[in-house]
Amino acid sequence: MKHTAMTILYEVHDNLYVNLTNKCPCACTFCLRQTRETMEESGPLWLEHTPSLEEVIAEFQKFDMNKYQEVVFCGFGEPTEALDVLLATARFIKEQFGKPIRINTNGLGNLVNGKDILPLFKGLIDTLSISLNTPNADRYHELVRSRFGEQSFDAMLSFARNAVNYVPEVVMTTVATTLTSEEEEQCRKICEELGVRYRIRPWED
Ligand code: SF4
Repeated sequence: MKHTAMTILYEVHDNLYVNLTNKCPCACTFCLRQTRETMEESGPLWLEHTPSLEEVIAEFQKFDMNKYQEVVFCGFGEPTEALDVLLATARFIKEQFGKPIRINTNGLGNLVNGKDILPLFKGLIDTLSISLNTPNADRYHELVRSRFGEQSFDAMLSFARNAVNYVPEVVMTTVATTLTSEEEEQCRKICEELGVRYRIRPWED
């Protein structure tokens, strides 16, 4: 049985992370959800239930927001699965604390929500960090096992391409040591063509 709790907010280095949902359209082979229940810094990230906006806002009252550089929507699920609460929380953060906001996403938020969600990020989200994972569509499908199937790789790429129109900083990431240097070079080219920044990130970032 999984250990659940209501760890909605948790610290990672100088940032405050927001865990809104355990839902995700993917079942990545490397997902930390498959192998562990906690991150060192956070405690259990499996949520007992999906928190309401009121619950999320109440959690923010427990933290000294002056301590944090950035607020990051991440956690043990895909943040755009909880789009309405995400947007309302982001508005609250901007109004109350004026902090930069990042979303770490698999880039499938348009498929999840059945509409183009990027215009909703305008003026609200400062950074989108999208998991590219691999430059190869077939390999992507093997790794990510999206419930949206084969369309997912192209949907993720076009999400990144359009994101630059609404979000100031769009980054695509792969995880260090998981790709060959040739593959990383291909990723760099993909990002260049999409007009986004490429970042090779450490595991668990
Ligand atoms: S997209 Fe993220 S949360 Fe979803 S299965 Fe993959 S690694 Fe896990």
